[in-house]
Amino acid sequence: MSYQTLYRKYRPSDLDDVSGQSAIVKIIKNSLKLNRISHAYLFCGPRGTGKTTMARILAKNINCLNLQDGIACGKCKNCISILNGNCPDIIELDAASNNGVDEIREIKNKVSLVPTELKYKVYVIDEVHMLSSGAFNALLKTLEEPPEHVIFILATTDVHKVPVTIISRCQCLDFHRVREDDIIHRLRYICESENIKIDDEILKSIANLSDGGFRDAIGMLDKLVSYSDQKITLDDFEELNGIVSIEKKKEFLSLVENGEINKIIEFIDFIYNCGKDLVIFSQDLMVLCRNMIINYYSYENTDCDIEFLLSFVEKMDEIAIALKESNNLRIIFETKILSFIYQRNKKSYNTTLKNVSSESENNTDSEQIKYDTNVQNTMKMTDDNIDVDSHMTSQKKEKSFDSNSESAESQIDTHADTNFSERNSIIINNCFYSASKDKLLHIKNSWNLLNDYALDNKYGAAACYLSDATIRASGSHEIIITFDYESVVSRGFQFNTQIEQLLFKIFGEEYHVAYLTNEEWEIEKNKYIENKNNGINYQYLDLNSSFKQKESVNKNLNEDNTALPDNSIVDDAIKLFGENMVSVNE
Ligand SMILES: [Zn+2]
Repeated sequence: MSYQTLYRKYRPSDLDDVSGQSAIVKIIKNSLKLNRISHAYLFCGPRGTGKTTMARILAKNINCLNLQDGIACGKCKNCISILNGNCPDIIELDAASNNGVDEIREIKNKVSLVPTELKYKVYVIDEVHMLSSGAFNALLKTLEEPPEHVIFILATTDVHKVPVTIISRCQCLDFHRVREDDIIHRLRYICESENIKIDDEILKSIANLSDGGFRDAIGMLDKLVSYSDQKITLDDFEELNGIVSIEKKKEFLSLVENGEINKIIEFIDFIYNCGKDLVIFSQDLMVLCRNMIINYYSYENTDCDIEFLLSFVEKMDEIAIALKESNNLRIIFETKILSFIYQRNKKSYNTTLKNVSSESENNTDSEQIKYDTNVQNTMKMTDDNIDVDSHMTSQKKEKSFDSNSESAESQIDTHADTNFSERNSIIINNCFYSASKDKLLHIKNSWNLLNDYALDNKYGAAACYLSDATIRASGSHEIIITFDYESVVSRGFQFNTQIEQLLFKIFGEEYHVAYLTNEEWEIEKNKYIENKNNGINYQYLDLNSSFKQKESVNKNLNEDNTALPDNSIVDDAIKLFGENMVSVNE
């Protein structure tokens, strides 16, 4: 005998076997008892909650010749014909694969014919929201005047896509997600009947993962049974479903809380390479946080940082939604987590800053005045095409940066991408070559347009990042921006593509961005002033061709050791930036 899946084997055959939908069972039982049968039903609800099963039970029970208290006898000729599954008067149609008008038109044509065997001819249309509008119209005409001997049972997971005109002609029954306890109860019954050895903990995990759907829950159990022939363990369950263990999840949570970016990236790398499901991981993290939050309020467990948990749940929800819509799961997951840490650091940083500045307001003011005078003196000496404004207060900020964020900072990916530092140098060079005050003002004045993208799915992280930047100089296609911390600077490299795309959207032309710390900017600025004073001019360097050429050199080297094209431009650029930032024109 061929193997029957547990779901089919344990599919409820009558109303009393149906669990988790007691309200619907009651309604249907009563209408059967009182013989108040509606001619059209619409079953709505999430997948796997028993809509099709209920449709089949209803189709059988209204046709049973010895119905007792709403329950079919299972022995009369109608019951037997239906249970055999070949009764011509029960017509099932899956709208997901038959969305054409033809099928519905055929129903319309045949609907007036009396049933061949049964009392009622029953049409079950699954996933009815998938019908085309033409098909809906044809169906509507039939539903307007259904013959006495016909009953329609429509089922859908997405009632919002069903036209109101259809809904208004049906008795609608809402199938709810099945409660975890009901699922566990059913799973335990199946395990006992099948002599399957399994811990309650695993049943609970299955119920949790099935999101209130029996079909998924029993399907998971079925897979587990085929997976391990002995006693089923939690490891089996986690392995089979790509689930990360609870200890690992807690570990991840604490890494995020402490902003340990290197370890987070390693962690994501690890679970991704193990084939764990990032969508499930995100949902699991939310459940874990939720339990910890409830724990916090119920037992006043002060071990966890409630503010962190609350904001993290919100972020995880956003991540879970983004993951469902994306094909780049890992990138989305990684960048969203990093942006969460960044926002968190920024917030705690701002709070600390506020405290410090209110403590020493007068002090800062006097320093600021001294500093302003300094700047004015410098301005006289320099080309005023670049912004010499600097953050005197930034050192103060650095000292006040709280310990939490500081540890995050020290963890930031420090493996400097040489490509990027070279790229940075070329952009700085070109920016100085074509720097203009007008351009700088234009960029600065339009910078707040970034705010429009702060909540954008694609550019939100880049917009938030840029809104924190200080703009120092702008050339025809270059912008130099600075930040207080190296950790923030290095994040710019990670977002570079998004950042440059966003700038293109805002300014309508291409800009390459150089990212520096304020200190680095001071050095570059002073070099620039020195060069200007010495009459040294800058030379324009082609950013793209330098890199392209470099790539092709590597390619050629790999393919043929003898072929070495002229890469003098690259050499020049390296020489140029290795020693001095500038080249001598004359
Ligand atoms: Zn019967």
